[in-house]
Parts: sequence; C-alpha cells; structure tokens
Amino acid sequence: MGAQRVTERFAELYGAPPQGVWAAPGRVNLIGEHTDYNDGFVMPFALPHRTLAAVSRRDDGLLRLHSADVGGEVVELRLDALAPGTDHGWTAYPAGVVWALIEAGHEITGADVHLSSTVPTGAGLSSSAALEVVVALALNDLYDLGLERWRLARLCQRAENVYVGAPTGIMDQTASACCEEGHALFLDTRDLSQRQIPFDLAAEGLRLLVVDTQVEHAHSGGEYGKRRAGCEKGAALLGVDALRDIPHAGLDAALARLGDEEEVVRLVRHVVTEDHRVERVVGLLRAGETRAIGPVLTEGHASLRDDFRVSCRELDLVVDTALAHGALGARMTGGGFGGSAIVLAEATDVDALTKAIEEAFTAAGLTTPRVFEATPSPGAHPLS
Ligand code: ADP
Ligand code: MG
Repeated sequence: MGAQRVTERFAELYGAPPQGVWAAPGRVNLIGEHTDYNDGFVMPFALPHRTLAAVSRRDDGLLRLHSADVGGEVVELRLDALAPGTDHGWTAYPAGVVWALIEAGHEITGADVHLSSTVPTGAGLSSSAALEVVVALALNDLYDLGLERWRLARLCQRAENVYVGAPTGIMDQTASACCEEGHALFLDTRDLSQRQIPFDLAAEGLRLLVVDTQVEHAHSGGEYGKRRAGCEKGAALLGVDALRDIPHAGLDAALARLGDEEEVVRLVRHVVTEDHRVERVVGLLRAGETRAIGPVLTEGHASLRDDFRVSCRELDLVVDTALAHGALGARMTGGGFGGSAIVLAEATDVDALTKAIEEAFTAAGLTTPRVFEATPSPGAHPLS
C-alpha cells in the first residue's frame, strides 16, 4: 500500500487526484504505562505501520470520508452539523479532528478524504491516533494553519476525548505526530516537553518484537476508569495534584501515609515506580546500554500484573515464554486486558522465540498471536 495506490483510489472516488498524500504511524510504548493520566512520563516509538490519507480541500462546507479498510460508500457530513456524540462509527475520528480544529477557531471549509492503513486496529497500537493525526496534518498543510506538532496532537486528543468519547491520554497522538526514525520519544505528559532518545536496535544486533495476542477482554473500558479513579484518589489522599508529584525517593513514606488503603497503595506504587523506570531506561539508552533496559521492561510487567492488575493470561504467557527462551526483557504494552506485548531480544534469538511463543499458545488452546518486528520509524509526514 503506497501513495500511488491511495492517489488512484482517491481519483476513482472523488473524480480528480488529491492535492496531497500524508502518512501517520501507529506506535508502541517502550515503557511508561498508565502514567499519562498521572501527569507522568511515557516513552513510545513509531511503528513502520502507518495510515495514509489522500486529501483535497473543498469550499462548500462538506466533509467526505472514505476508508479502504472499512469499504462501502463515501460518507458525506456537513461541517455545520458536526457535534460530539452524534457519530458512533469510524468516521467520528476524522470528523472529530475537523470539529476540534473549527472549535479552536481555524477556518476549515471542507475536505475530501480517502484513508488506507497497515496499523492493526484495536491491538493497542493506536490506529485511532494514526487516523486522527494523518487527517490533522493534512488539513494543517492544506489550510496553512501553521500549527506545531504537539498542538496538532492536543487537538487530536480532544477529538478522541470529546467527539469520539474515549477518555485517552496524550501519548498516542503525540507519538504519531512527533516521533523520529531510530528514536524513542521521552515525553513528559505534564508539560508536553519531549526529547528524542536514540534507540537504534538494528545497529546493536537487537530486535523488538510486538506480539499481538488478538484478544480484547470485554471489561477493559470499565477497568480503565476504575484505575484512573483509584489514582486520583491516591493523589487526593496524598495532597498532590497528580501521582507524578510523588518522588521515587519518597515512595515508602507516601505508602505509609496511605495506611490500609490497600488498593490505592498498589496503584500508587505502580505509577511512581513506573515513572522511575522510564527515567532509568532513558539513562541506560543515553549511556549506550541498550541490553540493560531488558530487566527494567520485565520489572514493569510485574508491576502492571501484580500492582496495577491490568495484565491477563495471554499477556503473561507471552512474557513468561519469551523470558524462558532467552529474551532480554518483555512486558505488556498499552492499556492491558489483551492487546500486545513487546519482547526485546538478540536478533539471533528471534526465530526460536517466535516459535516458542506460538507453540505455547497452541499448547494452551489459545489463538496464535501475530508477531512482528518493530523498527523505530518516522512520525507523521507528507508523502507528496
Ligand atoms: P487502537 O487505537 O488501539 O487501534 P481504538 O479502539 O482506539 O484501537 O481505535 C480503533 C478504531 O479506530 C477502529 O475501530 C475504527 O473505528 C477506527 N480506525 C482506525 N483506523 C482506521 C482506518 N484505517 N479506517 C477506518 N477506521 C479506522
Ligand atoms: Mg486508540
């Protein structure tokens, strides 16, 4: 799937070639899970999998949308009728971006959009952010809005939170908009300051596998809300704005103050140690000690499994099997209760590891997961 294919398809659908084609990637989070709504640190990198958008301006107040991945007819929406809560299908994501831009005072008079993606949907790899960011970047260019990348990410998050109605943090959109090839993005979700951290796996003979379990446990939405509320309770009990404000060195004292609030203790311990793990990984990568991040990733998994309690049988199976077959580190990634895990391994071990994971799933009577290599790839950019 390339720029030429979406250009041709756009012309078939809309009767003329597009004014341009843009790309935005999915992402995987290396470390920093369930920290983003606690004002903490995250460290995603962009996947080679990406969403392409062929787009032209319109001047008659219409937004026309088509996705090769959904098929069917072109969907036609009127800009003056866009409102949160009116759309429960996939078109809410791109329509939400247009709504957020207009609401922020930008003059958008319409667009024709054709999309095509290689980002797996619902696998915790942020196909939704790739979709939002590619549309935002296209309109930013076509309408000369001059918005910076982090600002586009903010507007996309607003589209997803308010228009689509999904309570997500700022990581996904920022990763898709701001990541750079060969780097992971160290993002402070409080002030959105960011640093590109060199993460060139191939040069060191390493690989990072993404293992998509292809399961999504039904209660994930409700559990996310509960964890979020628990973290807010912890911050309130400790008298801070967000759990980010508890320094790692002050963790024991903070936990002691929480007394017998056992659940809150576990949640706080995860968030504070996870922020610290992000900082440790940044330090190790900067020192060129890429292999040494493995055990930190594995520690993060144990914390998500035992303290935050968002793992599941399939994710634990990936991690346990990978570690038993020589992986340097492994952890679930994304919100949990299904989705994907990541495995850091020597390039020479990849085939044996993949086979071991597949066999373990077969032996457990589970659907074979999808395994692929994730190379830190470029963030959103124009293609033509
Ligand atoms: P994730 O972001 O982890 O992939 P989400 O549930 O947040 O999962 O977003 C997935 C949804 O985004 C899909 O169900 C669909 O509505 C929409 N989506 C993502 N990519 C596309 C695409 N290429 N075409 C149409 N809709 C898409
Ligand atoms: Mg998403």
